[in-house]
Amino acid sequence: MAARPLPRIRGREVTGTPCSCKRSDRRAAAVRMANTTDVLVVGGGIAGCATAWMLAREGVEVTILERRAIGAGASGANAGSLHAQIAHEPFLTKGEAWARAYAPTLPLLGASLALWQRWPEELATDLDLATPGGLLVAETESQLADIARKAAIERAAGVAVELLDAAGIRRVAPYVSPRVIGGLFCPAEGKANPLATTPALARAATAAGARLLAPVALRALTREARGFRAETDAGVISAARVVNAAGAEAARVSALLGLDLPIEAHPIQVNVTEPAAPLIRHLVYHAVERLSLKQARNGGVLIGGGWPSCLRADGRLAADPRSMAENIAVAIAAVPAIADLRLLRTWPAIVNGTDDWRPILGEAPGIPGFFHAIFPWMGFSGAPITARITADLLLGRDPGFDLAPFRADRFAAFA
Ligand SMILES: Cc1cc2nc3c(=O)[nH]c(=O)nc-3n(C[C@H](O)[C@H](O)[C@H](O)COP(=O)(O)OP(=O)(O)OC[C@H]3O[C@@H](n4cnc5c(N)ncnc54)[C@H](O)[C@@H]3O)c2cc1C
Repeated sequence: MAARPLPRIRGREVTGTPCSCKRSDRRAAAVRMANTTDVLVVGGGIAGCATAWMLAREGVEVTILERRAIGAGASGANAGSLHAQIAHEPFLTKGEAWARAYAPTLPLLGASLALWQRWPEELATDLDLATPGGLLVAETESQLADIARKAAIERAAGVAVELLDAAGIRRVAPYVSPRVIGGLFCPAEGKANPLATTPALARAATAAGARLLAPVALRALTREARGFRAETDAGVISAARVVNAAGAEAARVSALLGLDLPIEAHPIQVNVTEPAAPLIRHLVYHAVERLSLKQARNGGVLIGGGWPSCLRADGRLAADPRSMAENIAVAIAAVPAIADLRLLRTWPAIVNGTDDWRPILGEAPGIPGFFHAIFPWMGFSGAPITARITADLLLGRDPGFDLAPFRADRFAAFA
């Protein structure tokens, strides 16, 4: 099965859902808000809410601006996979040199998954978190060889991965197809519930003192002698520092300060089946095509992997039936027992991307006080470390990672 290329659009060109708040809501928000803050976090997705929480609980004055509702972007619409390995599809299409350049992201993912383990208790919320491991399955010797090449790069970057033969795979996961001849097991991987997570982070942030303004959009941002002037739907806010956590729209936010960052926005989709008896323990991928497959605690099987959805001319998203059919076919090839389940729902959403798949983290070179908190493609998995690093930098602490591979000025377009 040949991979269909994703439709590509730059974040700043995406026509998003217009702010749905009424004028009276905006006026009410304006009345309530003070007009200064130390840190202004733009974006109430998982990255922005987690960053605000980590700052607020250290006593930093934080304001979150969200133009729609908390988690209304990719953070509330994703498939909930917690990834620790290199995504197989870009490894096949972009090659080993790309994977080696991407490899510094792997320790970030590892640290992020360790932080994920603490979130249910720290947030006092059931996040449906489970990390039974991820399985990348293969049906041919040549697919196994590709997996082994990828595993070598992952091991060199410190990721625990184990190559399994047919017997090994069936011992771990008896539910995979008899056509599977082997694969790779990555014990750190798993899943969590996106619908529960970002609201829990927002609650924790506000409980720790962060101010949440939603639905309130950032419209303009200019540098001032001591920080930034943010023009919002609810009036002007003076901020000493700004965090760009606007996900797929982060390029638009950076553009307000004259930065031309190639942050991408890709319309993709996820499917979910009716609830079934417990069957699939792991996060399952297939070496032949894009796939992420897992079973939620309620029994529904979530089937995704980044298949394209449709972006209409008016900017609205729609599910793509062809993607749905191809995605389901790969899922059945990996786990035949799901073939009889009814598909309940397919939903489209926009994922934030970068061409090299690496996050954009840290203070923007040349713009002191303006920070990027952008983890592309796997930003649900990467949110805890994105927030931890961003908060550490704002608190003047050493984040403990070499952030050179994640600097915004690695892009030629950086002006
Ligand atoms: C269908 C799908 C499936 C996915 N599956 C997975 C998965 O299984 N595992 C995984 O790790 N990752 C997955 N991802 C990726 C992951 O969801 C994202 O990388 C992550 O949620 C990004 O979080 P964020 O907080 O940076 O951005 P977002 O969640 O997009 O939040 C950004 C927020 O900023 C707001 N905003 C933007 N501009 C402004 C403005 N001017 N003023 C105020 N607010 C603004 C937006 O309204 C939005 O709510 C998936 C993504 C999609 C779309």
